[in-house]
Amino acid sequence: MPIYEFKCSVCGKEFEKLCPVGKDRGVRCPECGASKTERLFSVFGVRSSGRTTGTSGSKSSCSTCGDGSCSICD
Ligand SMILES: [Zn+2]
Repeated sequence: MPIYEFKCSVCGKEFEKLCPVGKDRGVRCPECGASKTERLFSVFGVRSSGRTTGTSGSKSSCSTCGDGSCSICD
């Protein structure tokens, strides 16, 4: 299921929501509850935090020993 970006026409809140294809109408704004939202035509599945998956270096690694799965030093 793709993640779509929506923008609320009432309060201007932008949010992402997992949405089945074709079910992107009438999505409610999490901020004010209005169903007057419009889908933004941008890429889906991308978050603004810059966090990526599957590539090396993106995972937070231990600053002490450099091990990404370190639970001792961290
Ligand atoms: Zn709203």
